[in-house]
Amino acid sequence: MSDQDGRDREQDERSPEFKPYHHPAAGWGAAKSVTGFLIREGELVNGPRAIRKMNHENGGFDCPGCAWPDDTKGLHLDICENGIKHVTWEMTRKRVGREFFATHTVSELSEWSEFELEDQGRLTEPMRYDADSDRYVPISWPEAFELIGRTLRELGSPDKAAYYTSGRLGNEATFLYQLMARELGTNNLPDCSNMCHEASGRALQAALGTGKGTVDLEDWERADALFILGVNAASNAPRMLTALAEAYHRGAQIVHINPLVEAAATRTIIPHDFAKMATFRATRTGTLNLQPRIGGDMALIRGMAKAALEQAREDPGAVDMTFIERHTTGFEEYRALCEATPWEEIEHQSGVSVADIRAAARIYRDADRSIASWCLGVTQHEHGVDTVREIVNLLLLRGNLGREGSGPSPVRGHSNVQGNRTCGIDHRPATAFLDRLGEVCGITPPRHHGLDTVGTIEAMHRGEVTVFVGMGGNFVLAAPDTPYTSAALRKCALTVQVSTKLNRSHLVHGRQALILPCLGRTEKDEQRGGLQSTSVEDSMSMVHLSVGMKRPASTHLLSEPAIIAGMARAALPDSATPWEAYVEDYDRIRDTMSQVFDGFEDFNRRVRQPLGFRIRQPARELVFHTASGRAEFSAAALPDVIPAPGTLALGTMRSHDQWNTTIYSDNDRYRGVKNLRTLIFMNADDMRERGLSQFDDVDITSTAKDGTTRSLYRYKVIPYDIPRGCAAGYMPEMNVLCAIGDYSTQSDQPIMKHLKVTVEPSA
Ligand code: SF4
Repeated sequence: MSDQDGRDREQDERSPEFKPYHHPAAGWGAAKSVTGFLIREGELVNGPRAIRKMNHENGGFDCPGCAWPDDTKGLHLDICENGIKHVTWEMTRKRVGREFFATHTVSELSEWSEFELEDQGRLTEPMRYDADSDRYVPISWPEAFELIGRTLRELGSPDKAAYYTSGRLGNEATFLYQLMARELGTNNLPDCSNMCHEASGRALQAALGTGKGTVDLEDWERADALFILGVNAASNAPRMLTALAEAYHRGAQIVHINPLVEAAATRTIIPHDFAKMATFRATRTGTLNLQPRIGGDMALIRGMAKAALEQAREDPGAVDMTFIERHTTGFEEYRALCEATPWEEIEHQSGVSVADIRAAARIYRDADRSIASWCLGVTQHEHGVDTVREIVNLLLLRGNLGREGSGPSPVRGHSNVQGNRTCGIDHRPATAFLDRLGEVCGITPPRHHGLDTVGTIEAMHRGEVTVFVGMGGNFVLAAPDTPYTSAALRKCALTVQVSTKLNRSHLVHGRQALILPCLGRTEKDEQRGGLQSTSVEDSMSMVHLSVGMKRPASTHLLSEPAIIAGMARAALPDSATPWEAYVEDYDRIRDTMSQVFDGFEDFNRRVRQPLGFRIRQPARELVFHTASGRAEFSAAALPDVIPAPGTLALGTMRSHDQWNTTIYSDNDRYRGVKNLRTLIFMNADDMRERGLSQFDDVDITSTAKDGTTRSLYRYKVIPYDIPRGCAAGYMPEMNVLCAIGDYSTQSDQPIMKHLKVTVEPSA
């Protein structure tokens, strides 16, 4: 509990605990956790009110959590434990206003934990950093916009500024944001997907001519086999548990592929299944668990393909040659590569036995319709693009594309991260899009590619980018190489953070800095045109509306579209773009978007249909906008993912009680951890080899591609069911270990799931 100055003093006294978790995911554990959270946040009244509105159409708001699609069958409680935490956290009654900032210097606040910072509550008014007093002081909106406008006008080159997007930004604000940046003359539009699913987008684009998955929830309800790779669904996409339990009930096979056996890979009690809740009856959510070594997914999938091709010699039905001949290219090269890849190498690189790989291949062969779903456990590697393409190769072998119950289904982390990319946040924009944008909006968009997240940090560090604008998120913590990224941000002339709550990125700032508080998802957005709605796109390309239901936390808050329009008008005083008219009524933004984007025709009418609309996916209709006009097999060599002797491959991950960089507590219920975040999970034999026992203090040192090292000290080691040579721990703390230069040559993504580390007892 926080004391008088908001600090959580008791945290330090609570001693760490670890007891492996064997209960069902969700169920009574989730119910107890939610109740505790609502009580802690004092939201026992508003909380349930919001829960009834969450993820519901006709006046409901979209959960600011993950991007799992809304139920299509009118489920009343279409929510999960973590979704309730995200919403309750936003709805807190705590406030951070000028009194708070007058009491605390930035240097003092820099000593506070991430939890303590965000736990202070909702920001209530715009604040400007005053270097003399080392405090934030109030500033009016017009003054704030003028400061931003003047700074951007005087930059000399529009490429000296970068405009970052966290996946929470709605589609309408997203469109205005990219329009502002491009009217200013830059494509410096880094976004959080540069760190999460960039590999998925690039791989799917190359293989199928689309950067997205091709399936929807109804396909999940019809698949005979689900292959779930590198996903911790019970914490990061909890409503997937419902789909998995229903799949098990109808006899589908569910194969989880992950170095850790996470809670969603075993069993669950679905909270809205009252009969099961009342009788404590759990449902299985997995039929086979395979634990490859970190980075071993590609070899495992290669093995499944090899087994299928071997099977096809006696059993022609093992692969769909009709589909392959009619719709694909590159098959023969891929077949030859599979045949040439020895089982020994596959077993060694995957860390999974040939027998288990064959078992998975048999499940794949016996299923008429298969879906492969993956998340960051697959993408945050050097070879992330190759692995996603290998997954697509496997799907193509049996024609699992363009028909019910089959296809690729990446699970997006943030509620609108897919919508951000769809609506123009792309540092490498397509020419056709820029042509259309210029034509419709009467601007001359820049043609040269801009900077992604890593590129922006490096450019800030070199002093080439001197203005950083962050729409949501907590950039300094989400990014890799925290000290380097912090130094880069501090070199900026101006940093602007548009946020709902206080966080680390407000304390790591440029010479001048602004905090601009915006409306939350749950809050009513009243404009001259009345109550406004914003739209979001989920992981399965469904676009639907979100409307706030409660009074804003402060009368000084502005909506994200209004903040962007304010910045744009100040930076582009003569702009012909109707910024103010757009803010008055977001239907006007959508009208323009319907002219710019394929698939958004008649946007305003279609988005108001029940459940909204699904953006057309050509690949789902077997229309492939690839170089060959066909679905393309890849033929990449297997990477060597075996750690050098004495080292471990470390993957960073979230706990159950966090959302991206937002920390709700130091507990991780599904992994059996209490009161501890500075930990490393290791294989018990690897611990024994190093003379380590549970809770021993260890120092963790990573070695970057350039040979530099980075260390974390006095972390606690915990024995965990993880393959030999592998280890895991939490982001954002462990982002310190990922060097800025350690990004994939295939996707430019920081390789947060595959750091090379040593673990030594602390001195
Ligand atoms: S599954 Fe994701 S979107 Fe749905 S309620 Fe939970 S966190 Fe929110």
